[in-house]
Amino acid sequence: RAKERQDGEPALYDPTMHSSLVERLALEAELRKAVAEEQLQVHYQPTYALDSGELTGVEALVRWPHAERGMVPPDVFIPLAEQTGLIHDLGQFVLRQACFQGQEWARLSPGTVLSIGVNVSGKQLQRHDFAAEVSRALHESGLPATSLVLEMTESVLMNDTDSTLRTLQALKAMGVRIAIDDFGTGYSSLSYLHRFPVDILKIDRSFVERLSGSGTGDEDSLVQSIVQLGRTLDLETIAEGIEEHSQLLALRRLGCTMAQGYHFGRPGPAETVSRLVAARASAEPVKA
Ligand code: C2E
Ligand code: MG
Ligand code: MG
Ligand code: MG
Repeated sequence: RAKERQDGEPALYDPTMHSSLVERLALEAELRKAVAEEQLQVHYQPTYALDSGELTGVEALVRWPHAERGMVPPDVFIPLAEQTGLIHDLGQFVLRQACFQGQEWARLSPGTVLSIGVNVSGKQLQRHDFAAEVSRALHESGLPATSLVLEMTESVLMNDTDSTLRTLQALKAMGVRIAIDDFGTGYSSLSYLHRFPVDILKIDRSFVERLSGSGTGDEDSLVQSIVQLGRTLDLETIAEGIEEHSQLLALRRLGCTMAQGYHFGRPGPAETVSRLVAARASAEPVKA
């Protein structure tokens, strides 16, 4: 806390400010190194069809294993990466890993197509060469464009620019799908759903968390409205953060078609999904 000096002027030196700045700079330097040396890892969380229980895809989630700090969560280092410009290299790394891994799973289980979800920050979309980078990752990995889903939040589309629109149209023309992440938490205006080529709404975990199970509570009608909106606009709906079987039942009742959450599986290394894919290649889908 800044101390008042005798003459009434506030002190310029604030030890807490100093330590947090030093801390931030240290973290930034370490993140820069981790990105450059490709120390980041990509984990994958499965997505399932609510009716059949079939595995429909995965979401790629970046992880930073840190020698002293342990696993640093993305909520900490993604904002830092965005502020420092590291997000471009970080994002390319995740995108390319996910595309190559997705193509590997396609080889492991021919005929089954998994959706590969990759989170994209607004900063990445603003780069004029983003669509070209996506195209390159697809071509080099061999992953079909229709398997790739780019996830972005509403805020990304709200502070929209013509260049964002052009980028999304270029991606759309390639066959890449666009998902709105954390849907319902951002803005009341939904006009961007008309302006941008959106394919999927991911219903935010905060709504799923409060589902009553009966399918008749207030929160239930909220989820139902989103599902209905999706149906009206011909968009798919995926519920995020399912932790309880009762939520699964409520979502099914409300007409939601796909879901993701700890109830089905936590994010894990690629090998975890490889086992699911191998099981799927050799057997009937398991009921969730
Ligand atoms: P998100 O895209 O909404 O991802 C879902 C988050 O919810 C993940 O957290 C996931 O582990 C967590 N989750 C999944 N199921 C459940 C559940 O049943 N209960 C609870 N409590 N949580 C669940 P994670 O991996 O910590 O990622 C946090 C956020 O960081 C992501 O939210 C996304 O916005 C961002 N992020 C992660 N990876 C990347 C990336 O490669 N690039 C960018 N730009 N952002 C990323
Ligand atoms: Mg996401
Ligand atoms: Mg989300
Ligand atoms: Mg999120």
